[in-house]
Amino acid sequence: MAEKKIKLVRTDENVYEVGILALQGDFELHTKALKKAGQEALLIKTADELKRIKRLIIPGGESTTMNKLIDIYNMRQPLLEFGKKKPVWGTCAGLVMLSKDAGDKRVQPFGLIDIDSVRNAYGRQIHSFSKKSKISLNGRSEAIELVFIRAPKITRSGKQVQILAELDGEAVMARQGNILVSAFHPELSDSTMIHEYFLKM
Ligand code: GLN
Repeated sequence: MAEKKIKLVRTDENVYEVGILALQGDFELHTKALKKAGQEALLIKTADELKRIKRLIIPGGESTTMNKLIDIYNMRQPLLEFGKKKPVWGTCAGLVMLSKDAGDKRVQPFGLIDIDSVRNAYGRQIHSFSKKSKISLNGRSEAIELVFIRAPKITRSGKQVQILAELDGEAVMARQGNILVSAFHPELSDSTMIHEYFLKM
């Protein structure tokens, strides 16, 4: 009888430091930013893929669409379980998805961070804008171009929430334990400081 060849695959060869939810939105730009920071990322569309990553980015996009796709792809429960234990970073629409209350019936947010958000909160005339601002994280400071695209606002944050960056007196980046959120798009700036910060969470 011919000997059966079994290919041994070490589990940790299949494990990536970081994955990006790739159901919708600007996940490709996060892939590029992470590459610049020296990290290969896995694009995530299924619950099985979620098992292969240590941390997850929920990108910007359209939270109402993302919300629908999360159900279509049966990702709601797996994402919730993942976020209870592992680092998750939501940018823009991702922030909306991670908040407690998004003030929109079409979005059922995960409530993994004790903040409320309001979608498209910067008004119609200024859908999108950018502003350079100094951000300090883990003792490192950089002036970063903060890009806002139909961005949400954080309208309430609980006591456990640490505000990491403000713009004109309003919180635009926050963290509670393993959950990080930013209203702007760090993947659109030249700096990789925030991606590097997340990779150490
Ligand atoms: N306005 C979008 C939403 O509410 C977010 C925009 C973005 O992610 N750039 O989902």
